[in-house]
Amino acid sequence: MHYHQYYPIDVVNGPGTRATLFVSGCEHQCRGCYNQSTWRLDSGHPFDPALADRIIADLNNPRIKRRGLSLSGGDPLHPANLAEVATLVARVRAECPGKDIWCWTGYRLEELSDAQWQLVEQLDVLVDGRFEQALADPALRWRGSHNQRIIQCPRRQACGGSRDQATLTASHKESVSC
Ligand code: SF4
Repeated sequence: MHYHQYYPIDVVNGPGTRATLFVSGCEHQCRGCYNQSTWRLDSGHPFDPALADRIIADLNNPRIKRRGLSLSGGDPLHPANLAEVATLVARVRAECPGKDIWCWTGYRLEELSDAQWQLVEQLDVLVDGRFEQALADPALRWRGSHNQRIIQCPRRQACGGSRDQATLTASHKESVSC
């Protein structure tokens, strides 16, 4: 996996003070994308164990308290990114208790593959869907266009983590805010 940027302190991408990783690789090609330089999988820099270690250390740094990790891009759920993103997510779960994980993807929840779903089940919040220029609204918080949804992920849902139920929840409520 490659990444474009790592911001150890970020107050824009998700609630509170966070660490944010922008990975490389996106196949959605949304018109009006503000991050086209991230589309190629091999753009940016190689994501290596040292950066993973740094992210874990930043999240656990008591001097600058972060609420959690944000994963954006590019697309963290691009099939080529899944394995390494899943490994990072698993490390945050195991080594950073109490930290939340937000993820932005161009896929809609309903179209996720089984492999993507396995990762999504480990997240706290998924912001889903392509950026649609016709539905863009700069007043929206944490999403660019009205079709995108802020979805509390199954591990936090009262539905108990069922894929079908989570899809149903997202379909019935255009935005599930947190
Ligand atoms: S999903 Fe995001 S990064 Fe990918 S093309 Fe759309 S706006 Fe750009």
